Amino acid sequence: QWSKVSKELRQELGESSYKSWIEPLELVGVENGVARLNAPSRFVGDWVKRNYHDKIVARLRNDHAGLTQLEFFVGPAAAPVVKARVQTQEAPSVLESAPLEGRYTFDNFVVGKPNELAHAAAKRVAEAGPVTFNPLFLYGGVGLGKTHLMHAIAHELQQSRPDLQVLYLSAEQFMYRFVQALRDRQIMDFKNLFRSVDVLMVDDVQFIAGKDSTQEEFFHTFNALVDQNKQIIISADRAPGEIKDLEARITSRMQCGLVVDLHPTDYELRLGILHRKAAIFAETLGPVNVGDGVFEFLAHRITTNVRVLEGALQRLFAFSNLIGQEITLDMVQDCLSDILRSSERRVTVEEIQRKVSEHFNIRLSDMLGPKRARNVARPRQIAMYLAKELTSRSLPEIGRRFGGRDHTTILYGVRKVEEMRSTDVQLAEDVDLLRRLLQS
Ligand code: ADP
Ligand code: MG
Repeated sequence: QWSKVSKELRQELGESSYKSWIEPLELVGVENGVARLNAPSRFVGDWVKRNYHDKIVARLRNDHAGLTQLEFFVGPAAAPVVKARVQTQEAPSVLESAPLEGRYTFDNFVVGKPNELAHAAAKRVAEAGPVTFNPLFLYGGVGLGKTHLMHAIAHELQQSRPDLQVLYLSAEQFMYRFVQALRDRQIMDFKNLFRSVDVLMVDDVQFIAGKDSTQEEFFHTFNALVDQNKQIIISADRAPGEIKDLEARITSRMQCGLVVDLHPTDYELRLGILHRKAAIFAETLGPVNVGDGVFEFLAHRITTNVRVLEGALQRLFAFSNLIGQEITLDMVQDCLSDILRSSERRVTVEEIQRKVSEHFNIRLSDMLGPKRARNVARPRQIAMYLAKELTSRSLPEIGRRFGGRDHTTILYGVRKVEEMRSTDVQLAEDVDLLRRLLQS
């Protein structure tokens, strides 16, 4: 089956990508929704995981229903897979966590305004003192670091409290194991095992919405653990109350703990992340020179998903390494034309002003004019905030477009909205909605 998959990928990716990345791989086994592949180096494994993970999973699924993840390892194969197979046949006596990504540590997590609360909460849970909030519910859009934070908690706990049984898995894997237990008539074992962990982490819980029996089982597991005062950590792509088809009783239990969200990244955070990731890539690939303005350019242009930003940087590193030259802005244009094109939709300050005026039903001339009444001033500040966030204009440039205002006025407006976002739910929603409208 691997030869079939690999043949399909050869057609899709072309000969040179195929030769570099796919051909050297060897599928060793599939177990518990995870396919293990042997790669000639960690770099190749990382690369394939980052760029082709979903493509490969989708194809392997034809033969392996329930497959959700690829795991790469370097060097001689076999042993672990054989062990895993023996374990499942004899009904496992401990639950194995899904594989953790070694680089997803707290050290490698860059903290900025948009994620500081989530980071602090994750840190606290990882200290494994008395349970302070249960569950911890982390939510936010794709690629903002939910999985990274959960793995970081798991790593930290494994270090400081090896006696604790920490179980991390995706909601999809939870369902898969549950269905498997039903099929194999091992549901009692399943229940006992899940109730015996000390810390349970379930990633992307929105997945079980609408899946009735899995939700039911999840709810019981959840309650049993909370009753025993065991820590639970959940992530989702949106707030508990906003997950469609999630049972009300589950939603309300989720809300009993601490619910924190990861906001979309801002420019400073993206810049910080790029610097940190560059240091990490340099460790595995060797040092690479990064020319002036490259990080700044990337942080401006690739704004939605940190994973994409990271993939772009990795590609630049690989390329620069290959040709032995520093990363320049020209190289960025050449190498990343596909990514840049797809994030091309540049929003203009004028567009923002128009959309915001429409949304709040005020005149564009009032937005730009001198009126200070709240019903005009607030939308104006929101527009300033969005202009700062979504365009690469400087504060003075934005000021000029707001009827010649001073850059300090713009800064004040931006700060004001930033501040209010955390207390004023309505305003936060308006801002999110407008951002989405402007970016779509
Ligand atoms: P999510 O689970 O929210 O979709 P991930 O945790 O998988 O997102 O993050 C996507 C990628 O972005 C990962 O490689 C992760 O390391 C990286 N990332 C996201 N936020 C940060 C951050 N604050 N610092 C460092 N890396 C980050
Ligand atoms: Mg994730």
